[in-house]
Amino acid sequence: MSETMHCPRDGKPLTAKIYEAKIEVDECGACHGTWLDKGELEAIQATVERDYHEALGKPHDTVSEGAQASRGPIKCPKCGTEMDARPYGMGSQIVIDVCPEDCGIWLDEGELAALETFFERSQAETKIPLHWRLWASVVGFTRKRK
Ligand SMILES: [Zn+2]
Ligand SMILES: [Zn+2]
Repeated sequence: MSETMHCPRDGKPLTAKIYEAKIEVDECGACHGTWLDKGELEAIQATVERDYHEALGKPHDTVSEGAQASRGPIKCPKCGTEMDARPYGMGSQIVIDVCPEDCGIWLDEGELAALETFFERSQAETKIPLHWRLWASVVGFTRKRK
């Protein structure tokens, strides 16, 4: 077991939380930010991609950009190095804090959900043919009837 980490925003201890049965993430109870060790984001991405069918037909929220504007630089809760804020992926509009020493990443409140949405959407756009997506959204409205 590793030592307790503390929230880079407010210094509160992070509590381990199980995400999707297998993945353990560390969450701050005060500001609801989430620490992901190296590799955990990829694990979450894989889980989201596997489960994304359930989300088809639901409207996707867009990421609010304003929520991130006032945040300052933070230090990695593991090694204390100042983290780099960088946009995640292409066109996601999500800025995540990444430890340059490769410890992991910090997600402020809402960013994990925003990333899930981004993964679902990019998954739907790359792998699902357009006619299937249209069909799925229609089915989502009418449910299936015999
Ligand atoms: Zn916090
Ligand atoms: Zn670090």
